[in-house]
Amino acid sequence: MIDTADRQEKKRLSMVRSQLEVRGIRNPAVLKAFRKVPRHLFVPPEYRSKAYQDRPLPIGRGQTISQPYMVAVMVEDAELGPDSRVLEIGTGSGYQTALLAEIADQVYSIERIDWLARRAKELLRKSGYDKVHVRTGDGTLGWPEQAPFDAILVSAGSPSIPQPLTDQLSLGGRLVIPLQDFQIQTLEIITRTESGIRRERKEPCSFVPLIGEHGWKE
Ligand code: SAM
Repeated sequence: MIDTADRQEKKRLSMVRSQLEVRGIRNPAVLKAFRKVPRHLFVPPEYRSKAYQDRPLPIGRGQTISQPYMVAVMVEDAELGPDSRVLEIGTGSGYQTALLAEIADQVYSIERIDWLARRAKELLRKSGYDKVHVRTGDGTLGWPEQAPFDAILVSAGSPSIPQPLTDQLSLGGRLVIPLQDFQIQTLEIITRTESGIRRERKEPCSFVPLIGEHGWKE
């Protein structure tokens, strides 16, 4: 059966209740964004009927759109407000970029694979998110011309903290990043303070590798 927009909305609202709220996602702005952004439009057409399932899905070129709950944890941990300036590393499908655009003021996003960056740009434009800035490049270098950022979200697993990213945080700014092992990482929040950085370990997670100068080598 072809899903109508109504049916997709019902699935989306059910996803927010059964996957996010019951697992402790509480931030009203985050929940509102998840209720609004049409995740099914960001997955490839052959996966559209599975878009609201509790799992990551393939998006091409060996990459994935992350599980909705994991995206929600990262966006909530970023502690964004309506005036925030945010950098996302790993645009992927553009879904998280759209969520960030619903919550923050200015959104910058970097994707390593040009094909994905172009696809995400097009989907974001078609969905009305034409104010976000997406570019192809090595996100481990950050976007120095647009720094500082109140938050930086890295949607791929890194062996260590990329120094350029902490350098590009504003004072009190938060870097949300899966760190350490190639297969299984720990989600960490790195906060820039007056005296350096503070590290907070959150939960185990499993992301595709962050490949770049300050990540895994190709
Ligand atoms: N948040 C995305 C979404 O909503 O679809 C999912 C991102 S996917 C799990 C991780 C992405 O990070 C992949 O598209 C991959 O190509 C990208 N990536 C890996 N290393 C990167 C780097 N150094 N700079 C930018 N993007 C990178």
